[in-house]
Amino acid sequence: MTFIITTPLYYVNDKPHLGSVYTTIICDSIARYKRLRGEKVIFITGVDEHGLKIQRTALNNGVSPKEHCDKISDIFKNNWLEWNISFNKFIRTTSQEHEKVVYEFYEKVKASNDIYMGEQKGWYCVGCEEFKDNPDNSPSYKCPIHKKNLEWKNETNLFFRLSKYQDAIEELIQDPEFIEPKERRNEIINFVSKGLKDFSISRTNLDWGIRVPDHLNHTFYVWFDALLGYVSAISSGDKNIP
Ligand SMILES: [Zn+2]
Repeated sequence: MTFIITTPLYYVNDKPHLGSVYTTIICDSIARYKRLRGEKVIFITGVDEHGLKIQRTALNNGVSPKEHCDKISDIFKNNWLEWNISFNKFIRTTSQEHEKVVYEFYEKVKASNDIYMGEQKGWYCVGCEEFKDNPDNSPSYKCPIHKKNLEWKNETNLFFRLSKYQDAIEELIQDPEFIEPKERRNEIINFVSKGLKDFSISRTNLDWGIRVPDHLNHTFYVWFDALLGYVSAISSGDKNIP
C-alpha cells in the first residue's frame, strides 16, 4: 500500500513563513522515515491560488492575479527545493490538471442530485474567506483572527447536500482506524453528532477562480477547489515530480 502524506496547500497571498516551513519539515521527516522502511510514499505539497484575497492582493501590487500567483508559487517551490524537501508532487490549483479534476468531481456530485441553488447571508471575512458569527450584528464587528471589519454578504450560491450523509458519515467514523489519533477522532465524532449542515460550494462576483460550467457567474469555493488538490495530486500520475 502507498503511504500518502500532504502539507496544507499553502495560500499564495504571501511568501512562505515559519509556519509553512514547520509543517513541511515535519511531513518531509515522516516521508523520509517511511521510505527508509521500504514503503512507497507520495509526498504532496503545493499552493491554493484562488479567492478574493488573492485577487485583492494582486490588485494592490499592481499585477494580474495570474502574475501574482506565478511569482509566489515559484517562491514556494524553489524554497522547498533549496531546503531539500523530498516532495513528489507540487499542486497548483490554477493548473489545467487540477481544473479537470474539479469539473469531473462536480459532474459526479451533480449527477447524484447533491447540488442545489440556495441563499447564503451573513457577515463575511475576506481574510478567512468564510462567513463568521457576528454576535452584535454590527458593521464594526471585527474578525477575531484578522481584526478587520466583516463585510455583509447576501448571495445566491450553489450548495452541497452534506446533511443527506449524516448517517453514512457517523457510521464511517465509528471505525477506529479511519481517523487517528483517538483525540482527533473524538473531536470529529463530537462535531458530526451536532448535525451536519449543507454548505456553499460557489461564490458569485468573484472572477479569480474556476468557473462553474453551468453557472458562469459562479466560481467554485475552496471545498470544491483547493480541497480537491489532494485528489488531483494522486490522480495526475508522476509527471509533476520535480
Ligand atoms: Zn478573518
